[in-house]
Amino acid sequence: NTFAEIDLGEALNNNIHRCKYVKPTPVQRYAIPISLSGRDLMACAQTGSGKTAAFCFPIISGIMREQYVQRPRVARTAFPLALILSPTRELSCQIHDEAKKFSYQTGVKVVVAYGGAPITQQLRELERGVDILVATPGRLVDLLERARVSLQMIKYLALDEADRMLDMGFEPQIRKIVEQMDMPPPGIRQTLLFSATFPKEIQRLASDFLSSYVFLAV
Ligand code: AMP
Repeated sequence: NTFAEIDLGEALNNNIHRCKYVKPTPVQRYAIPISLSGRDLMACAQTGSGKTAAFCFPIISGIMREQYVQRPRVARTAFPLALILSPTRELSCQIHDEAKKFSYQTGVKVVVAYGGAPITQQLRELERGVDILVATPGRLVDLLERARVSLQMIKYLALDEADRMLDMGFEPQIRKIVEQMDMPPPGIRQTLLFSATFPKEIQRLASDFLSSYVFLAV
């Protein structure tokens, strides 16, 4: 079982090879085919399990396959196609770094936005076009309130370390963010939720945000 056997598109397969990933980790082995099939997913994943690639590969592959990258996208309000929410600046930057490597020469543009840093540079990046936005919940709410980001074109939503986001008190922000994706027209959004633990709060989030999802515990 190797990545070469999974059809993620030539450019992405080349990048995976360049990153020296040969064999999928257990979470990747199951999560990637489920995600490629279009199903929503709730997956149990610890740090170091390879979860970043598990949600990045299907998202990048999906965006390439649908040729969404061809659309005009340089505007004052950014219209990302995918949103990856993560609890901290540090994790968001790690995801951004990895996602950039995976999307090299695919035409898929990745931008990161997090709090505790000046917003000006992030606004400038967003204006230049974004396909995948990696963000912390607080900073994203700020960007939404400034109308500098719209979530109306979101096709993929990934929640990383969902339990940690709830522990940090981000549930109101997360709900506010997801509400904006549920505005008409009804979305054909695919949601991937990753968490290390599954308390009642996470299960409630899953039943509110995911539709007929697969639960993966490896
Ligand atoms: P993560 O759990 O996503 O933070 O990944 C943990 C580390 O494992 C990161 O440094 C990844 O680059 C690396 N990694 C993830 N998947 C693979 C793989 N299939 N083969 C080799 N390294 C990997």
